[in-house]
Amino acid sequence: MKAATYVPEKPCKRGHLLRYVAGTHMCVECNRLHNAAQNREQKIIRMREWYAKKGAAARRNWRLKNAEREKATRRIYQAKNKNKISTQVRARRLRKPETFRQYKKTQYAKHREQILAKRKEWGAANKERIAELNRRWRLANPDRDRALGNRKRARKLHATPPWLTDADHDRIFAIYAEAQKMTRESGVEHQVDHIVPLQGRNVCGLHIPENLRVVPAVVNFKKNNQFIEELCA
Ligand SMILES: [Zn+2]
Repeated sequence: MKAATYVPEKPCKRGHLLRYVAGTHMCVECNRLHNAAQNREQKIIRMREWYAKKGAAARRNWRLKNAEREKATRRIYQAKNKNKISTQVRARRLRKPETFRQYKKTQYAKHREQILAKRKEWGAANKERIAELNRRWRLANPDRDRALGNRKRARKLHATPPWLTDADHDRIFAIYAEAQKMTRESGVEHQVDHIVPLQGRNVCGLHIPENLRVVPAVVNFKKNNQFIEELCA
């Protein structure tokens, strides 16, 4: 049943012009606004209580049921907030490097196939960009570049044993850095030499700190793989 209303002589303090006849002669509009506000408040309180109790599970359920929709929403958000997200990720990575490394590792173990496929695909589509990034990195890190290049070559030759520790790799890197330093300081090109060559005819040396030394480049070139043949003769 609709309550009877009348138009009062003066509007209410908020300027409304309609009152209920029954009860307290309340302003219709003020009453409606009051109820709405109260309802809204109660609704929010109820919602908060509900979320505190079942929110996480409900969200997870919803996400499972609406995986596609969730994905689409996330894609849109990611596309719109690229910079923001990458800044956040970078900050988090800097704050917790170990956690990040661990996360990367587990992700890789879990999704190895997809990651490799994606990487391959991305690499094919961004050849120039990769070359440019590599070039810049090499310019900024000549020592590391050389160490990595040699390590790669050594690995190819199966000369880097799996039992090398991180400390060993650091020592190897330090030797390459030393060669660079000596080159800079003496003005004569210095290189890292494998005392027992990686690819001798009779014996293959290992790419381990104990088998490395810094020598002037001339010596390194001249020696080639000769000396081990003499040793083994
Ligand atoms: Zn009113």
